[in-house]
Amino acid sequence: MDKPLLLDLNLELLNDCKWQCGGCHVATKGQDGFSGGDLARLNALADEFKSRGYRLNFLNITPTDFMVARNTLDILRDPGLRALIHKFDFWYLTSTFLAEPDEHQEEIIDVINRDYADTSLYFYVVMNPMKVLDEKYMQRIVEKKNRFISRLKTRSLRQFVIFNWYEYPDPRVMNAHRDYVNTSKWYRDHFSANQDYVMSFARKPEMRKYKDDFIKSIDWLNEVIATYVPQDNDLEQTSRLEALGEDSYTAYDFLNRRYTYRNGEFYYVPFLVACLVNFDEGLKVPLREWSVDEFERCEQELIVSQFNRLPEKPRCRDCGHVGKCVERQILHTLDVIGYDGCIAPLQQYQDQYKKW
Ligand code: SF4
Ligand code: SF4
Repeated sequence: MDKPLLLDLNLELLNDCKWQCGGCHVATKGQDGFSGGDLARLNALADEFKSRGYRLNFLNITPTDFMVARNTLDILRDPGLRALIHKFDFWYLTSTFLAEPDEHQEEIIDVINRDYADTSLYFYVVMNPMKVLDEKYMQRIVEKKNRFISRLKTRSLRQFVIFNWYEYPDPRVMNAHRDYVNTSKWYRDHFSANQDYVMSFARKPEMRKYKDDFIKSIDWLNEVIATYVPQDNDLEQTSRLEALGEDSYTAYDFLNRRYTYRNGEFYYVPFLVACLVNFDEGLKVPLREWSVDEFERCEQELIVSQFNRLPEKPRCRDCGHVGKCVERQILHTLDVIGYDGCIAPLQQYQDQYKKW
């Protein structure tokens, strides 16, 4: 069976955020919608990806809380973005759901119900990793989230809890998150899936300087996945596949191409246990015409350059997983952080092989 190719686009458009979530390394300012003419070019590009056999999977309108970003309404009201969102299977918005109901939220609800009623809208709900066992805090978010989404009339609505993961030194927090199986029951009861982790810290410029923190965080996530998360637990993926009508597939039956758009530029998104959004020059897709050929050519060059640098990586050179790591741009990430150890999610790889 040929693997379907999925295109996932992360659009860094929203500006400003008044929260200070633990572990957040988002540049909350500095992106402001689309550069001149980009939205028309992006619509044409999406059409070309589709005509070349890519399935337009999801659009993520990011990086800040859409409820408090100052340009959410301008963006959602743009007919060009409306057209783009309608080309994709799903779109995502992110929020803490901490904001009190106000006029701004009412206007957002009106726009979504008017312009996006026939779309599948999913929410990432950012929660504080330090409060994973604080039921009062969690209940407050659930109530606000339920109140907001009960007003929406889109074709499909799902919500996924995410934690910004970083190195949390408090052992009680680490242990609470290690108790993944038990805590995930609570999240599954109140959201569409179990909790998940995002690596916001990967957004830091000059990641090399933070190599030690990065490695610790990755090791922790890999440990949780390998030791505490049961197999077949990727409920967000499962949920997405069900909604796609592809419930006979698993998350491993697809090839994902993931790119981030920010201020007129595109960047590849490496994938470890989660997406690593980073604006390193080496991940930038050089575009002149905004064509699929340019994306594919650049992808090939990135693959070849990772293989070419294998002799400098004795550990990876003799490893049976090297193809998978190159495809996920993990070897490139090792270069970005200046590390010659292993950061790959080996348990995920093994589960994947079992499914083939
Ligand atoms: S994680 Fe998101 S909601 Fe929280 S402070 Fe950062 S940008 Fe804002
Ligand atoms: S990062 Fe780890 S799994 Fe990947 S090729 Fe290197 S040693 Fe192998």
